[in-house]
Order: sequence, then structure tokens, then C-alpha cells
Amino acid sequence: MAIELTLSIIKPDAVLKNHIGDILSRFERQGLRIVAAKLTRLSRWQVEKIYGIHEGRPFYQDLLQFMTSGPVMLVALEGENAVAKNREIIGNTDPRLASPGTIRADFGTAANRNAVHGSDSLESACYELGCLFEPGEIYS
Ligand code: AMP
Repeated sequence: MAIELTLSIIKPDAVLKNHIGDILSRFERQGLRIVAAKLTRLSRWQVEKIYGIHEGRPFYQDLLQFMTSGPVMLVALEGENAVAKNREIIGNTDPRLASPGTIRADFGTAANRNAVHGSDSLESACYELGCLFEPGEIYS
């Protein structure tokens, strides 16, 4: 299996509820390594770059507003099969459909307040990490 890098964003709802530590420890306990992390507030322009694929969908304006509403934690994760493993650890987009023990099941409250983002493919991960981190900030 290949060693991959992927992106997680701990969203404003989870940051506000003080869940950063719990979420990071789940990644570590399940075999992913944190190779970059920063607490920041995203600009509308940055969110549009990450979520532009959803432009025009009914939830898009709320998504832009929510993702810029407060600080987020940007996290680069490294490990074997990291893209798929991260998606497994975070669970279904809708916390009500997410498997028990996943981050979204435990910390999310609705599809539009689901605690974390995870890149959905290796291609997206490379693109998203490139948008949000300088190469020298990732200790891979
Ligand atoms: P995805 O790339 O599929 O993870 O979706 C990106 C984000 O868009 C999700 O994490 C949600 O915040 C939001 N989203 C996706 N689908 C829905 C939906 N049906 N209703 C509300 N928000 C959604």
C-alpha cells in the first residue's frame, strides 16, 4: 500500500465545541500521522477553491457562510492509504447515517454541520493541500 497525504479540516462547529484534541487523537490512534496543523480562519476565496465543485447546489451559500464563520484547524495527515483511511475514520457526510464511533457520528449534528472535512481522492488531497499549506509547512 502507498504512503499518502490527505487533508482534514476541523470545521468551525467542532472548534467551537472544543473537540480539536479529541478529533486529532482519533487520527493518531487509528494510524495516521499529523504532519502539519494550523488554526486559522478561512477567507471566502479559500473556501470557494476547496468547495467550488458544489457551486449551485442548495447548500452552497450556507457552506460558504459556515466555513468562514470562525476558526478551523487545517490538518495534513500521512499514512498508508491515508485518503481512504481518513474517510473511514470521519464517516458519512450526514452524521445521522455515519457509523457509530466515527468522528461525524460523535461530533457532527447535521449534513451541513458535520465537524470535519476529508479529501475524497488523492487528486483532491493534492489540490486542497496545495491551496492551504506552503510546501515547507508539511513535515512529511
Ligand atoms: P463532500 O465533498 O461531499 O464531503 O461535501 C462537502 C461538504 O458540503 C460537506 O462536508 C457538507 O458540509 C456539505 N454538504 C454536502 N452535502 C450536503 C447536503 N446534502 N446538505 C448540506 N450540506 C451538504
